[in-house]
Amino acid sequence: MRILVADDEPMSRRLLQSSLTKWGYEVVTAADGLAALAVLQGAEPPSLAILDWMMPGMEGVKLCEEIRAKKAEPYTYVILLTNRHSLGDIIQGLEAGADDYVRKPFDPSELKVRVATGERILALQAELISARDALRDQATRDHLTRVWNRAAILAVLDEELDRARRDGSSCGLLMVDLDNFKRINDTFGHAAGDEVLRETARTLVASTRRYDSVGRYGGEEFLIVLPGCDEVNSVSHAERLRTAVANLAVAAGAGIICPTLSLGVAIVDGGEHDVAAADLIHCADVALYQAKANGRDRVEVGRLPQLTPTTCL
Ligand code: GH3
Ligand code: MG
Ligand code: MG
Repeated sequence: MRILVADDEPMSRRLLQSSLTKWGYEVVTAADGLAALAVLQGAEPPSLAILDWMMPGMEGVKLCEEIRAKKAEPYTYVILLTNRHSLGDIIQGLEAGADDYVRKPFDPSELKVRVATGERILALQAELISARDALRDQATRDHLTRVWNRAAILAVLDEELDRARRDGSSCGLLMVDLDNFKRINDTFGHAAGDEVLRETARTLVASTRRYDSVGRYGGEEFLIVLPGCDEVNSVSHAERLRTAVANLAVAAGAGIICPTLSLGVAIVDGGEHDVAAADLIHCADVALYQAKANGRDRVEVGRLPQLTPTTCL
């Protein structure tokens, strides 16, 4: 674990550094409050900080307040070093956001256990964060393909439509469906079908821009949100995805599967109309149905019914 030692007295700083190093910690030092703040706000800040109360630049207590005001994650565990012993001082330090305090001159065995306590709390916090992240992942990711699940991609679509409305920008939506997928399952087995779904999802993600979103809408259907795309861009994106998947060759025990996609495109253009997500999805779905009817492995564009403009010039 990396520890920041901020103390303006060189002797005290060196003593802290050598003790902590002896106990196996990696130590970063700062000789005043502002240098300490720069370390804590820099890239990969130490997770535990031992801050002298009295320092030029910025006092330890003020530094504590600054750190807490940022509500940065992961948490910085703060131990204040103080030669102020009154109950009022201790309360002031803890109220400023310090987790613990050690009196100066410090007793090495006391400091050692207090640092160990901080390390234990930081480890617990890291466990909680990773459990929370895992839950968030489970709640928003499709378990088979790892793209957004249905609820998450619908939330993305709502957000992007709000943004398009606000900015007067465009947004494209693609409804994507694997062709004759039932036949793939029937011929090669369900596990091979799963592999085709995974490979297709991977290809869709790899072939879209960083700010596009890919989600699994249902069994072998995907929704793709293309922020800022008008009709021309959306159709060319759709064509690129169609080609990328058509070039796939998925190994499946007995043979090779070459999947194809049909895609329906819907666009909300320039924020002219107040289009609901459900209407846009329906529009893309109708276009997809058309692509299937016209022979599959193709892209069709849907037209939204003429709506009343929300703004009159
Ligand atoms: P079309 O070209 O008209 O879309 O025909 P299709 O066969 O792709 O469409 P249909 O709706 O008839 O069949 C979809 C199949 O997708 C049926 C279902 O068993 C399969 N499926 C849905 N979810 C999964 C899955 O998670 N894994 C696998 N292997 N198959 C799935
Ligand atoms: Mg299908
Ligand atoms: Mg389908």
